[in-house]
Amino acid sequence: MSATLQVLEPATEAVLAEIPRAGVEEADAAVARARAAYPGWRAMAPADRAKLLHRLADTIEAALEELALLEARNAGKPITDARGEMGMVLDTFRYYAGAPERMLGDTIPVGGGQSFTVREPLGVVALITPWNFPLTIAAWKMAPALAAGNTIVLKPAELTPLTALRFEQLAGEVLPAGVVNVVAGPGRTVGQRLVEHPDVAKVAFTGSTAVGRAIAADAASTIKRVTLELGGKSANVIFADADLARAAAAAPMAVFGNAGQDCCARSRILVQRSVVERFMELLEPHVLAIAVGDPLSEATQMGPLISAGQRDAVASYVPDGAPVAIRGSAPDGPGYWFAPTVLFPVDRHDRAVGEEIFGPVATVIPFEDEAEAVAIANDTIYGLSGSIWTENGARALRVARAIETGVLSINTNTSVRVATPFGGFKQSGVGRELGPHALDAYSEVKSIFYATEG
Ligand code: NDP
Repeated sequence: MSATLQVLEPATEAVLAEIPRAGVEEADAAVARARAAYPGWRAMAPADRAKLLHRLADTIEAALEELALLEARNAGKPITDARGEMGMVLDTFRYYAGAPERMLGDTIPVGGGQSFTVREPLGVVALITPWNFPLTIAAWKMAPALAAGNTIVLKPAELTPLTALRFEQLAGEVLPAGVVNVVAGPGRTVGQRLVEHPDVAKVAFTGSTAVGRAIAADAASTIKRVTLELGGKSANVIFADADLARAAAAAPMAVFGNAGQDCCARSRILVQRSVVERFMELLEPHVLAIAVGDPLSEATQMGPLISAGQRDAVASYVPDGAPVAIRGSAPDGPGYWFAPTVLFPVDRHDRAVGEEIFGPVATVIPFEDEAEAVAIANDTIYGLSGSIWTENGARALRVARAIETGVLSINTNTSVRVATPFGGFKQSGVGRELGPHALDAYSEVKSIFYATEG
């Protein structure tokens, strides 16, 4: 394997950077550095750890525009999106900077003494992240892991390692050496090594369900803690009594945002049959109006796909003769472009309906009533996200409880907030990120009993 990794710019196919490609040796060295740094980081007074995390947040804040530009170029995402994402990176560090002093335990009434619990860090934690939201998803893992007193080794996706490497430099200016380590190398060597490494206590992974399954299996040999954020095939359920104009205006970016490369993409648009024709009329101008083009233009809403391979995979869901009802625009020439595409009417058993496409392809599926809407929404191995549009509040809550996903929104399509838990049911994953719950995934509960009777 080459010792150098060429990082491409998906909008131009040009080489953006050449960096050393890490291997197993570098992974082992990173784990050793993290292990050496762990006792000091763990023993630091919580208020001091909090102070350093706030200082790290200040450092990120000063580099926001630089990071946004790097992310936009490397991942091919619109600069306005990249700025929003870097804002979330900052917010995530600020949120968890408050956590070290709030890792609370319980006192539990028992006989013969005093019983109480404390939260202990796990040790060295490996973080394996994807290319769709490179630094954002890494931050969701890094910030709570560090706040809880762990040291970390981050393996970013080979396609998008640049913001992670820059982050490692920024962290190095503020945190003790070895607390944050980044290893940019292939998943099947570096990633695999981290999963198997006896000195790694936990793996937090975001990526495909196939790799997630393999990681869960491999982690079992050392009983590592595992958090998995995997694929999705989320439903956007629109009832006849919804504000159809609002639902139609919002639906396109809920699946075409980040060029559809979003585990929360609402790629199955379920519409009550009595209004489906009207919905399609309302939807069309919004799809056609999506500005697809240069990620660095302020007006761009959708960039290219991440790679030629991803474009081929997405194209396979729209073969000749596919029921394309609406197709937006995309530039010609270099770059991994794919126009926003809506399939309707589409067979319930079509691959495009059942599989995660991870590209800008939506299917519209009619349903008769509430029961059928829930049945279709749940007819998937996934359970990550979803939306419900209705003016009937009781129905909104009934359906929200009935849909088997970790995150749901009513009359909007937002999924992710720093302060609320995020994660999947079923084969969309295990565990929760963000919010107060993420800290549980980076610490163990210890129960201590102090005898008070001689
Ligand atoms: P992968 O799951 O292969 O990659 C995610 C991360 O895992 C990358 O850092 C990758 O490294 C690493 N990795 C790969 N193999 C191993 C391994 N055996 N052990 C440890 N780590 C490993 O996703 P892809 O990039 O291949 O994307 C394929 C599909 O996955 C997409 O089309 C989409 O459907 C889904 N996906 C879902 C995401 C989500 O947010 N839920 C994110 C990304 C993809 P490297 O990049 O170096 O190979």
